[in-house]
Amino acid sequence: MSEIPKMFDSEGLKEWQQGIEQANRNNIFCHCRRCDAEWVDSSEEADCPECGSSDVEHLCCWQFPDG
Ligand SMILES: [Zn+2]
Repeated sequence: MSEIPKMFDSEGLKEWQQGIEQANRNNIFCHCRRCDAEWVDSSEEADCPECGSSDVEHLCCWQFPDG
């Protein structure tokens, strides 16, 4: 994501960058070890919405491991 959309003026660009930073902070990729559900949440404390298990693996969206 190195290209910046030209439609933004400097003000819009600043908001866009802040939005990206916020998304990076809040978008936690979650994987339930019990039922294998996958979802994105804003909290690393989130329980599985499918089975309610707290045995959940959390990854930041920008920290996906290879493979
Ligand atoms: Zn589950």
